[in-house]
Amino acid sequence: MSVLSTPSASLNWREQSGCLYHDLRVRLRNAGLRPTRQRVGLGWLLFARGDRHLTAEGLYEEASKARVPVSLATVYNTLHQFTEAGLLREVAVDGAKTYFDTNTTQHHHFFVEGENRLLDIEGQEIEVATLPAIPDDMEIVRVEVVVRLRRKEV
Ligand SMILES: [Zn+2]
Repeated sequence: MSVLSTPSASLNWREQSGCLYHDLRVRLRNAGLRPTRQRVGLGWLLFARGDRHLTAEGLYEEASKARVPVSLATVYNTLHQFTEAGLLREVAVDGAKTYFDTNTTQHHHFFVEGENRLLDIEGQEIEVATLPAIPDDMEIVRVEVVVRLRRKEV
């Protein structure tokens, strides 16, 4: 499979100084983002608990519970800024549903229908045998596979 993968800006960042808030600020600055209170607050929710897949609505809900004072619009903007800066990866599952993935390395996903859960497919290569012809002036950025699952009827 010939796929260009984006190098991850986030690898091993948790292993830096041991102080997550400090690391988060450094990480935002390194990504060209001013570490505002809102960015740090949302970044904390996103990155403090390992690899996660979150929708904007889900993060907004967590922010409300954690008393991080942000609007849904700010959550959207921040997620897109983080994505552009390489701190998150966007995973489109349905046309309408976008998940933001804190694991920015190249990987594929299971999506559990009905539960709206996105799971990383770990340690297994997926081989895409044939890719369609693409326009001459384009190149493939990456190929992402979403394997949709549902619970078996018992
Ligand atoms: Zn993922």
